[in-house]
Amino acid sequence: MMKRNKIGQLIVISGPSGVGKSTVIAEVMHRRENLFFSVSYTTRSPRAGEQGGVSYYFVDNEEFQRMIRENELLEYTSYQGNYYGTSLKLIQEKMQAGCDVLLDIEVEGGGNVRKKDQNAVLIFVVPPSFEELSRRLYGRRSESEAVIQGRLKRAREEMKEIPNYNYLVVNDSVEDAANDIISILNAEHCRIDKQYLNVEVE
Ligand code: 5GP
Repeated sequence: MMKRNKIGQLIVISGPSGVGKSTVIAEVMHRRENLFFSVSYTTRSPRAGEQGGVSYYFVDNEEFQRMIRENELLEYTSYQGNYYGTSLKLIQEKMQAGCDVLLDIEVEGGGNVRKKDQNAVLIFVVPPSFEELSRRLYGRRSESEAVIQGRLKRAREEMKEIPNYNYLVVNDSVEDAANDIISILNAEHCRIDKQYLNVEVE
């Protein structure tokens, strides 16, 4: 009998704002069991339709600073004038329970996660083209011109980090992108070079 040590896998998904990460992630979550989405903490205001505790935990600056001071965050960053961070306690509990944990975070956070967990799998999602990204951001109609221009500029910078990621997924259709991510997760679970795979042969 071969038995695996069941510690969950940490998965980072990054990609430019507007690439459709949330939709792809929702599709992956819908189709895959034993996968937990880490809801981040942020100081930014909710967009139309966003619910506290679902998209993010929306907190004020003071509360965010308290979380930093008390080491409650696995990683955090300042992005376009707001703070974003990942709760350490929540993801540790899930991983210990054998559940995979998915993080939707930007590239600086991705790099910090990799430093803390060498086994983390980093996936970068790109739009089919830069024009398409621009079209999607304007189509969202929730942000000012200045914010959109800031996000497009940041997108170009973020794409430079692609070589630090393990996998690249093109989001031309939600279904295909979700399929790719699920295939990556399946492959990662079959790898024999992960330290936590203490295979017992009886
Ligand atoms: P948005 O404001 O569009 O929801 O998110 C802006 C960026 O922040 C996205 O690239 C998203 O992936 C990233 N982000 C969301 N939560 C976190 C987090 O907890 N940590 C880090 N480092 N980035 C995050």
